[in-house]
Amino acid sequence: MINYGTFFFTNIVSMTVLTVCLCLLAWNNRKVTGMKWIAAGMVVFLIKLVLQGLEGQIPEILSSMLALQLYLIAFILQMIGLRWFVVRKPMQRVPWLLVVIGLLLAIYTWMFLHKIPHSNDVLNVPLVIVCGMSAWILLKHGRGPFTAVSRVGAVILIGDMIVSAYRGVLTSLSFSPWELVHVKTDPRWMYSLAAMAFLATCLVMCVLWFVVTELSKELAEQARTDPLTGALNRRAMEESALRETTRSIRYGHLPCMIVLDIDHFKHLNDTRGHAAGDAALQALVNQIKPMMRVNDVLARTGGEEFTILLPNTTASAGIMAAERVRQTVEALEVPFFEDEPIRFTISAGVAQLDPAQGGWEGMMRRADAAMYEAKESGRNSVRPIARFNEQAALKVAAPIL
Ligand code: GH3
Ligand code: MG
Ligand code: MG
Repeated sequence: MINYGTFFFTNIVSMTVLTVCLCLLAWNNRKVTGMKWIAAGMVVFLIKLVLQGLEGQIPEILSSMLALQLYLIAFILQMIGLRWFVVRKPMQRVPWLLVVIGLLLAIYTWMFLHKIPHSNDVLNVPLVIVCGMSAWILLKHGRGPFTAVSRVGAVILIGDMIVSAYRGVLTSLSFSPWELVHVKTDPRWMYSLAAMAFLATCLVMCVLWFVVTELSKELAEQARTDPLTGALNRRAMEESALRETTRSIRYGHLPCMIVLDIDHFKHLNDTRGHAAGDAALQALVNQIKPMMRVNDVLARTGGEEFTILLPNTTASAGIMAAERVRQTVEALEVPFFEDEPIRFTISAGVAQLDPAQGGWEGMMRRADAAMYEAKESGRNSVRPIARFNEQAALKVAAPIL
């Protein structure tokens, strides 16, 4: 049989180490909001453990009543944190939730202070429900890179739910007229407590797994994004084009590609400064993004060159889309400090996928060649591919890479 004091001492020591680690991790990765909630939950859980461990040395109102209240709060904070990893959207009905929790805590306090039997059930039942809800959230929403970790987390939480329910029953039995369980000496109470401690450690490991998954996901996103404009980069565009080509050939809905380049951008940089050039690039992306359909892909494929992939689009629809973008950019006035707003134009080339002409790479080269035709014909215009010289196109496309 485990000694009650020794158990709490070792449990508090290990939980302190884990809590400090999680808090440091949350502090260093403040963008990972879910981590903050979970770290807060761990701190509350640790305080609960300390209060429980000090039983007999501090008033019962702290070691028993407050400890159980903190336990429920810790599980709720943990649920909010785990939910962030898999859902991201803010929680709904928060005011109602706060009212329900506040009410439960108040009822429990009143019952405890009046020594009404079964007062613990008022919080033990919600505790079991919160564990179950957390597991359900993970199973329902844990997708993509979070699938495996969510499933493992859900299994641990279901374990928590079962053990919490078991301990709730044990507490209730201690209130029976025959006092079937003497809570502090019953081995079942001690071993179930040890099981809870074990599950808590497993859950911390699982949280670390969530954080690693989150950070590697962020890293993968960064590797696909242009930091200045937030548009995708060339690598991401190539991946999308390859995927779309395979898909479109299978379903027979061919995509279109627009390659656009800012006219006389070097002149803009030279006369207004590099910052003005950057502002123009950002404004261009901000202007184009809302004009796109959900499945369209926009990428910065060169210094001041952008590529738009339009799935399932005919050449004429692609030309119309490019012309809309050209007109919008022509009318755009980018505010730049106190100076005169920045104005610029673009030249764009449009090509549709033709599996006989080199797949998506051929489409890109042809759209690029069309864009150069637009430049040659006086800029601020849109051109579909007219004359196409593969060798010449290869030459103009190569330096952009
Ligand atoms: P054209 O009309 O023929 O396209 O002429 P252009 O001046 O736009 O083209 P050119 O290729 O001569 O110049 C492109 C310039 O874009 C040169 C380079 O310094 C600038 N550039 C590339 N990347 C960035 C960037 O991230 N920010 C800024 N401000 N300028 C950039
Ligand atoms: Mg240019
Ligand atoms: Mg260029």
